[in-house]
Amino acid sequence: MTTAALPPDDKDWTWVLDRSCPDCGFDASDHPRARLGAGVRRVALRWRPLLDRPLAGERPRPEQWSALEYGAHVRDVFRICLGRLQLMLAEDDPTFANWDQDATAVDDDYGAQDPFTVARELEAAAIAFAEAYDAVADGEWGRTGTRSDGARFTVESFGRYVLHDPVHHVWDVEQGYDALEGR
Ligand SMILES: [Zn+2]
Repeated sequence: MTTAALPPDDKDWTWVLDRSCPDCGFDASDHPRARLGAGVRRVALRWRPLLDRPLAGERPRPEQWSALEYGAHVRDVFRICLGRLQLMLAEDDPTFANWDQDATAVDDDYGAQDPFTVARELEAAAIAFAEAYDAVADGEWGRTGTRSDGARFTVESFGRYVLHDPVHHVWDVEQGYDALEGR
């Protein structure tokens, strides 16, 4: 099973900083900044069982990623976003290089990767990201960065924004398994 391209997701998703998500129910807006690392570790634990299921490589619908593809995406979100956090801490108001997540899924053939390896890599990437947030100093939370589409973040809002992503994709994967198993 290899990764076919999906229609691009061009929603900007920064509204998750203002209110709870109507899909997954997670409210990133009031997550304490001192517990961002803990929140990342907690959601990372939910991924191994999702990737350790017989249907992990199956798409529920042609236009929806499999658990494996979502897991590989979440791993790469943690990796890319660790780099963005480090950039905000090292430089004044950097602009992040564009990351085409749909192109990456195809180029890196997410659907052909090994689910167990992806689970391990996701956990390692999550821990690295969490530890970087644990180490943010009091004076660094307000440092800024700008995404290539113009969305602006502080270190604090960026952490909340990123934390929603793996939580939301757990919801996506659970919905997908329900569909695959006819529930
Ligand atoms: Zn959500």
